[in-house]
Amino acid sequence: MKIAVYIHIPYCSSKCIYCDFLSSPNLAIGSAEYLRALEQELTLRSRELREAGVVVDTVYIGGGTPTVLSAAELSALLSACRTHLPPTGGTEWTVEVNPGTIDRAKAVVLRDGGVNRISLGVQDINDDRLALLGRTHTFAQARQAFTLCREFFNALSVDVMIGLPGQKAADSAETVEELCAWQPEHFSLYGLKVESGTRLEGLLEQGEVTLPSEEEALLMMQQGKEILTAHGFNHYEIANFAKPGHQCRHNLSYWENRPYLGLGLGAHSYWQNSRYRNTADLPLYQNSLLAGNLPPVAIHPVEMREEMEDTMMLGLRLTAGVSFKEFQRRFRLDLRTLFAAEIHGLAERGLIECDSEAIRLSRRGLPLANLVFAEFITV
Ligand code: SF4
Repeated sequence: MKIAVYIHIPYCSSKCIYCDFLSSPNLAIGSAEYLRALEQELTLRSRELREAGVVVDTVYIGGGTPTVLSAAELSALLSACRTHLPPTGGTEWTVEVNPGTIDRAKAVVLRDGGVNRISLGVQDINDDRLALLGRTHTFAQARQAFTLCREFFNALSVDVMIGLPGQKAADSAETVEELCAWQPEHFSLYGLKVESGTRLEGLLEQGEVTLPSEEEALLMMQQGKEILTAHGFNHYEIANFAKPGHQCRHNLSYWENRPYLGLGLGAHSYWQNSRYRNTADLPLYQNSLLAGNLPPVAIHPVEMREEMEDTMMLGLRLTAGVSFKEFQRRFRLDLRTLFAAEIHGLAERGLIECDSEAIRLSRRGLPLANLVFAEFITV
């Protein structure tokens, strides 16, 4: 069996106003101590993987901002990964990078350490909007970071957000056009979401910033998609586009509802029919591991009905949709019979479409994906 491994680095140089990830510039425990605990977790988990006869197919180091770690820390982390999660030769190994936190020495460490894919958080080309979002870099720094990474890596992905405060459709189209000219292999295009408890939510409530209307945001997404398609990107997931052969294998394992192991503070796993979440309490995480134990986890066993619903909800994110044959192979059931009422209702509203192979979101259903997913979830 193959597995995807995610490693969480919770440090950032500052907190972006829209971010509700488990990340902070001011953690009580420094990165050197955190990495010691993480290596202990890697050691303990690798035993489990070996016993289960599992092969690591992808490694994704995200956060947070992994590249706020020093070159020496990154080198030690990658070395621990190679020891405990031996790459097979075909392992996809991604690291998230933020502009302003990468230099030549770190790029060398990443490449020599086995990393073969970089996901660069560019977000926008306008310095005023970047500053408003709390990003710590300029557009020029993002371009420098991309150029540097290009010297070392053949697979580069850029992250872009649209629907930003004060942004017009012409602005977002310009951003996507500009970044296409860089010729990344992969492009993630996200609509800005207002998460509860973020500074962005407060600023909106106080009327200090305004967001584009829903129609404008939809237009931005539609335009972005058209530009990316015209540049040869294949739209393979709601927010993700790839040149042929460059889909993100790691994220595909989430969308295909396959097992993955998350290591690090607050990391999630889906493994042996249960979902797990590591404690998000940093001292507790560290102390457990330094005492030789895995960190406390919240466990949610997944029964077959829930697994089937998750498979629908996650698989419909993919433009290829959910394959009838694959569903039948996995569950020994025909999804068209199992979800007959849901499929009938959604097809009548024009939100999904089926052919002889698969069920997928229709063009109309794509922007209303959450409504569609909700239909398949009862657990
Ligand atoms: S860099 Fe990423 S993880 Fe860090 S605060 Fe900004 S959005 Fe969040």
